[in-house]
Amino acid sequence: MNSYSLERTLESILRTREHELTCEEVARLLDRYVDQRLAGAVDDSPEMRLVEEHHQICPECREEYEAIVRALRNCD
Ligand SMILES: [Zn+2]
Repeated sequence: MNSYSLERTLESILRTREHELTCEEVARLLDRYVDQRLAGAVDDSPEMRLVEEHHQICPECREEYEAIVRALRNCD
């Protein structure tokens, strides 16, 4: 295997591996996620699913999300 095909192989492995979001990426998507949750909209886009998955494994981000939801509901 030459280095070019090795590179291609690694690339395809990385691409098919399930991508997990970092806390930073979740924070960037949080506004959109909260909007959709409050609107009761179901968004099946991969990003929104990954945010949800992240919330299941990361209590910090989940608390951040819940705090925002609470704050927004109190505004009504
Ligand atoms: Zn997190």
